[in-house]
Amino acid sequence: MKIYDAIIIGAGVAGLNAAACFDKNDEVLVICKDNSWDCNTFYAQGGVSVPYDEEDVDVHIEDTIEAGAGLCDREAVRILCQDGRVAVDDLINRGFLFDRDENGELHYTREASHSRARILHAGGDATGRQMHHFLMQENVHTLLYNSTVTDLLIEGNICHGVRVYHKGIFRNYYAKTTIIASGGVGSIYKYHTNSKAISGEMQGLAYEKGMELRDMEMMQFHPTVFIHNQGARKQLLTEALRGEGAWIVDENGKRFLFEYDKRGPMSPRNIVSRSIFDWKQKTGLSVYLSLKNFKSDFFKKRFPTIYFNMKDLGLTLPQEDVRISPAFHYAMGGIKTDLNGKVPNFYNLYAIGEVANTRIHGANRLASNSLLEGLVFSKRAVLDIKSRDFEFEFRVFSKEEEDLVKDNDKKLKNTLRTLMWENAGIVREHTKLEETLKEIEKMLKSDIGKLLRLRLKTSREIVRAALERKESLGAHYIKKLKG
Ligand SMILES: Cc1cc2nc3c(=O)[nH]c(=O)nc-3n(C[C@H](O)[C@H](O)[C@H](O)COP(=O)(O)OP(=O)(O)OC[C@H]3O[C@@H](n4cnc5c(N)ncnc54)[C@H](O)[C@@H]3O)c2cc1C
Repeated sequence: MKIYDAIIIGAGVAGLNAAACFDKNDEVLVICKDNSWDCNTFYAQGGVSVPYDEEDVDVHIEDTIEAGAGLCDREAVRILCQDGRVAVDDLINRGFLFDRDENGELHYTREASHSRARILHAGGDATGRQMHHFLMQENVHTLLYNSTVTDLLIEGNICHGVRVYHKGIFRNYYAKTTIIASGGVGSIYKYHTNSKAISGEMQGLAYEKGMELRDMEMMQFHPTVFIHNQGARKQLLTEALRGEGAWIVDENGKRFLFEYDKRGPMSPRNIVSRSIFDWKQKTGLSVYLSLKNFKSDFFKKRFPTIYFNMKDLGLTLPQEDVRISPAFHYAMGGIKTDLNGKVPNFYNLYAIGEVANTRIHGANRLASNSLLEGLVFSKRAVLDIKSRDFEFEFRVFSKEEEDLVKDNDKKLKNTLRTLMWENAGIVREHTKLEETLKEIEKMLKSDIGKLLRLRLKTSREIVRAALERKESLGAHYIKKLKG
């Protein structure tokens, strides 16, 4: 029986950077669904936040904690910001090219709730794509793609590896350590910006295996998304646009955000998303992102991905305004880990990146802190794994698996997406959350495949956590009924 040193579930920034932190001679297996590029990392536009200099470390910490609305773990944030500069410099030394200004200096841009320009970017607005490409090129370990992890082989509190479905066949792979780097939950919401590979099944599996999911009510909705294209993944318009001069206006040209917060378009994401949602409901007006402050040539060079994506959809930027809506974007909640990514109460199991919850982001993630999280915490996890000497007797697990998909699943998946969007979205109400919980319980009792069951369990934890938190905080906004 082959035993790997490590199995990594996921080939986004967290998974691939973890793979890069192992030695070349370590036996590491990286597994991902679909094509290797189909992950949220690939689609990241704005960039990577990083303290500009030594003095900026404390300011970056405070900005992150303020955006996180008091739910951040200060020590986790300190690690993110302090180790962040080292992680980014390490990436640059490995050969990654961030954009530079005309003097050859790194170009830092600004995004909402950052007190200064500290966002590095690459390929204009193609930071994630460039980073993913770089990490894939660097990877020396075996990568299994088009492969879905359907189970964690756990006995007692020891994880022996994973069960994988690949082209009609189930196989078990064994490892001394398993790292979950499977990303967020996008596909459980009707409108989202995420890759189609990101569907929250691993969070449901973690729950079934007895891991703690924490802060699951904390789901972030990005304010500026073009939701009128076909396909599940909607077009994001990065926050850097607002940082560099874009306006949010209603169809009469009114910059209504200032009525909600004096910071206007530079307010934290949760405030901007909720204000747009509320303004649309209150006035019945459509809301647009106006790019008129940009010069045409500059825009095309600085934001080429957005320029060409929107051109394909029939809009010429920056001349035309883009009709926008908030959409699900990022999961702050996830598998609870310690500050090295280790899952408590399990000996050889780690979770890193968006799937993990270290409380870095608290109740609301500060823009561009998640690529940084992937870089910093993947390295910490591998260092922790290497510092431990953990030997255990491997046992062989059956390859038998339940049906992954059943006939009714597609219909129920769509019902779930709509329910989550309408009732566990930007504005929540107690009674609607309770109704949703009942619907989810009902679906869980019906004849469904395993993958849908896991999605439902992840969704149930979001709804339960939202019901438990009676007061609004950060991204969780609960509407109190009058009377
Ligand atoms: C449109 C968009 C723009 C963004 N822009 C920015 C930005 O500018 N800056 C920033 O910091 N953050 C940004 N984010 C957020 C950031 O991209 C993600 O939080 C981050 O990339 C997550 O990295 P990850 O490695 O944890 O997961 P991902 O990159 O999402 O990778 C998850 C991996 O897990 C695999 N996987 C999932 N389930 C299974 C399974 N069951 N079996 C096998 N494999 C599985 C997937 O195939 C994939 O390879 C953006 C996100 C989106 C969607």
